[in-house]
Amino acid sequence: MNSTPYYRPTYLEIDLQAIYKNIAALQSQLAEQTTLIPVVKANAYGHGAARVVQFLEQRGLSLFAVATPDEAVQLRQEGCTSEILVLGISPHHFLPFAEQHNIHLTAHSLDWLLKIPASAKPRLHLKLDTGMGRIGLQSEQEVRQAVTLFSEHPNWDLQGIYTHFATADEAENPHFTRQLERFEQWIQLFPERPRYIHAANSAAAIQHQHAVFNAVRFGISMYGIAPSNWMKDNTPFPFRPAMRLVTEIVQVKQVAKETSIGYGASYTSAEPEWIGTLPVGYADGLLRGLKGLSPIVEEARVPIVGKICMDQTMIKLPKEFKVGTKVVLLGSNGVHTIPAEEWAELLQTIPYEICCQLSTRVPRIYPQSDK
Ligand SMILES: *Cc1c(COP(=O)(O)O)cnc(C)c1O
Repeated sequence: MNSTPYYRPTYLEIDLQAIYKNIAALQSQLAEQTTLIPVVKANAYGHGAARVVQFLEQRGLSLFAVATPDEAVQLRQEGCTSEILVLGISPHHFLPFAEQHNIHLTAHSLDWLLKIPASAKPRLHLKLDTGMGRIGLQSEQEVRQAVTLFSEHPNWDLQGIYTHFATADEAENPHFTRQLERFEQWIQLFPERPRYIHAANSAAAIQHQHAVFNAVRFGISMYGIAPSNWMKDNTPFPFRPAMRLVTEIVQVKQVAKETSIGYGASYTSAEPEWIGTLPVGYADGLLRGLKGLSPIVEEARVPIVGKICMDQTMIKLPKEFKVGTKVVLLGSNGVHTIPAEEWAELLQTIPYEICCQLSTRVPRIYPQSDK
């Protein structure tokens, strides 16, 4: 019997309980009234935003962050009823939809504020650029002007003020302190505090609790991944990775000595070898640069042989395995674990990029979602 409602036996298994446990672990570290804002941009870092949001809404979370207006629209279409904050810049013609659907927008510049139509009643989080150099108001002077603009526009609903750190995931960096000081000074310029003041991403929420204010934007570590290698070894609670990439062997054969495998015939067997074929490839996110990865087959870590193809990949088996044997490419099978960091190292990137690039062709399944 199929374990999934799909024909191809390649899937991403998402452990929603793990995500919730990561949230609970962080929440227990923070002051009780701190609002945790799950960041579910980029399809919840590849974990499937609709199901992640639905699961967390059932557990009382009620404000979610995405990067783009379109991600907010999609969440609404998928049934999310919570408040949604768009972290990126939205065009003004999105304002009517946002207003109607309780989507909170980021106000990132004076110019953007001044172009809000007179009839609009937007819910806004004002973004202050304290040293990230990406989006937001640039200076104390600009912040003062924004304060004036808000006082002149009672129809603008200032829900939050926020900033973003560039170096929160490092051991110690004076840049972090400078950003925090600037933010603290700039928020003093407002005559009253809005509902939310937030600065912390995962890294800051975990290791700079004095920078939490009253809400945190919890992204990568909600999915059980450390923000940086340094933090992996320096966090007060264990992360529970929520994602496994699983497939199974679809063909097994013993090849003669000197048989070539894959495009370019770049691999040739040194002796008679057992070769298994996996129905997963770079179009799924198993990028060609992962050639040095050793997937998990039962008790063994086995090498990929030949080049990774678009849809299929070959592995060298230590013995004959049955067609249908499960193979884990990312995550754990209970014996071995391949963390996202291992992929990241092979690809010379960061785990963030690993989970975001797993393609939509791979179905996400949620075995624990009913518990
Ligand atoms: C993506 C993002 C976050 C989440 O950061 P993590 O490091 O994944 O926790 C927080 N704030 C902003 C503005 C972001 O763009």
